[in-house]
Amino acid sequence: MADYLICGGTSYVPEDGNTGAQLFSTGEGLTYHDFIILPGFIDFTAEEVDLTSALTKKISLKAPLVSSPMDTVTESEMAIAMALCGGIGIIHHNCSPETQAQEVMKVKKYKHGFIRDPVCLTPQHRVSDVFDVKKSHGFGGIPITEDGKMGTRLLGIVTSRDIDFLEPNSDKLLSEIMTPFDDLVTAPAGVSLDKANEILQRSKKGKLPITNEHGELVALIARTDLKKSRNFPNASYDANNQLLVGAAIGTRETDKHRLELLVNAGVDVVVLDSSQGNSIYQINLIRYIKNTYPELQIVGGNVVTAAQAKNLIDAGVDGLRVGMGSGSICITQEVMAVGRPQATAVYKVAEYARRFGVPVMADGGIASVGHIIKALALGASTVMMGSMLAGTSEAPGEYFFSNGVRLKKYRGMGSLEAMDRKDTQGAAADRYFHGEGDRIKVAQGVSGSIVDKGSILRFLPYLVCGIQHGCQDIGAKSCSMLRSMMYAGELKFEKRTVSAQREGNVHSLFNYEKRLF
Ligand code: GDP
Ligand code: 5GP
Repeated sequence: MADYLICGGTSYVPEDGNTGAQLFSTGEGLTYHDFIILPGFIDFTAEEVDLTSALTKKISLKAPLVSSPMDTVTESEMAIAMALCGGIGIIHHNCSPETQAQEVMKVKKYKHGFIRDPVCLTPQHRVSDVFDVKKSHGFGGIPITEDGKMGTRLLGIVTSRDIDFLEPNSDKLLSEIMTPFDDLVTAPAGVSLDKANEILQRSKKGKLPITNEHGELVALIARTDLKKSRNFPNASYDANNQLLVGAAIGTRETDKHRLELLVNAGVDVVVLDSSQGNSIYQINLIRYIKNTYPELQIVGGNVVTAAQAKNLIDAGVDGLRVGMGSGSICITQEVMAVGRPQATAVYKVAEYARRFGVPVMADGGIASVGHIIKALALGASTVMMGSMLAGTSEAPGEYFFSNGVRLKKYRGMGSLEAMDRKDTQGAAADRYFHGEGDRIKVAQGVSGSIVDKGSILRFLPYLVCGIQHGCQDIGAKSCSMLRSMMYAGELKFEKRTVSAQREGNVHSLFNYEKRLF
C-alpha cells in the first residue's frame, strides 16, 4: 500500500519498451519479424490518419506505396492502378528502351487534365481515318482543324457518336459529319482547369476544346477524365493532372539513350536500378542526370548502410531505395554473402538520410500490412513491393492453374530466367553486374509463382485502410507524425523472441481460413 503512495498515483508511468535508437544499438541485424511496436493513445478515427508521404524531395504521394520495377510486377496497367490509388508504379526496364517509354506514355496518356497534344484531323479526312485512330489510340473524340494539327484554326469536332452507325471503311468526308465550330462549346486559352471542368460539366458534352483569340486549338479536355477524378480522389497527379509514373534504368552508357526516351515520354521519377548502388557508375550517372535533366527526380540505390547512402546523397539523389537481399525471390545474401536484414537497413539509412531531407523507400521483404507499418515506423517514407502486388490482375503475365490453384508467374530480376529474356538488351543482368562485360551470370534471384490476388483496385484500398488502423493503434495521426514520434523516442518497440513470434501468429487451431479483406 505504501509503495503505491510513494509512486505518486496515476501520474507515475514506468519506463517501458525501447526507443528506435535502443532497439538498433545492439549490433544485431533485425528483420520486420524480430520486433513489435507498443500501442499508444487513440483520440482520432482511423479514417483521419493522413498517409501523405514523400517519395522524393519534390514528389509526395497520398499513399506510401510503390510497385517494384520487375517484369512480373510493373508495366503500364499496374502503374495506372497504383497511381489511381494514391501510390506510384515504377516501370521495369527488362525490355527495349522504346517499349519501356511506350509503357510510360500509356500511363501519362491515361488521364489528362488539359490534353495539350490531342490527335486532330482535317475536314478532308475520311470516316475510316477516325476508325483507325480509335483502333490505335482507343478514343474517337477528334478535333477537326485547318491542317489536322494543334495550333491551327478549329473547324469542328468528330466524336464516337458521329460514326457509331457508319461502316469502318466508309470514305465519307469528315466535313459532312463533323459538328461545326459555330455549334461547339469552347473555352478560351488561359482558362484554369477547374473553370474548364465546370464549363464541360455544365455543357453536358463529352469534350471541351480550348481555343485562343484567333480560334486556333490549344488544348482539349475530356468528360471521361472528370469522372475518373471523382472515382479516385486520392490519385497521384502531376501539375497537369496526369498520373505520376516512374521508370527504372541501369547505370550503363546505353542507359542515357533509354533515359532520353523516358524523359520525352513524360516520366516523373527515375529509379537507378542496382542491387549495390554505391558505385562509381551510379554516382557518375546521377551527376549526368542532374546536369542534363535538372527537373527530373532521381531515386538512387539500393543501399543498406549510411556510408553507401552518403555517396549517393553527395552526388545529388532525391530519394533512396533501401534493401539488399531481403526480397522474397532473392538469394543475394546466400550467394554473395552481402546484404543486411531489412529492418536494420531501413532504420540506419533513414536515420542518416533525414538530416539531408532525402526520403527513404523500404524495398523488399514486405509480406503483410504490418510490415508496411513497421517500415514506416522505422523512418521509411514509402515502401516498395514485389510479391505483395504480383499475382494481381494488373501484374503482367497470364494466369495459369497448378493443382487447381490459379497462379501467376513471379520472378526475381536477378534470376537466370529474367536475365536471359531475349528482348531486353541485357537490362535485368545490368542490375547485378557492374560494367564487367558479359561473363558468367551468377543468379541472385529465383523464379516462381504466386496465388491470384484479384485486382489492385481492391487490394490497395485494403492496404491503405490497414496502415491507417495500425497508425491509429500507435497513436500517430499521420505518417510524418509516426516518424517524428520515433525520432523523439516516444514510439516504443520491443524485440520478439522466437516464441513471441509464434504467439503473435495464429496458433492452437486444428485448421483455419485466413481471409484478409
Ligand atoms: P472518346 O469519347 O472515344 O474520345 O473517348 P473518351 O473521351 O471516353 O476517353 C478518351 C481518353 O483518352 C481520356 O481519358 C483522354 O484524356 C485520353 N486521351 C489522351 N490523348 C487523347 C487525345 O489526343 N484525344 C482524345 N480525344 N482523348 C485523349
Ligand atoms: P519482395 O517485395 O518480393 O519481397 O521484394 C521485391 C524486391 O526484391 C524488388 O523491389 C527488388 O529490390 C528485389 N529484387 C527483385 N528481383 C531480385 C533478384 O532477383 N535478386 C535480388 N537480390 N533482389 C531482387
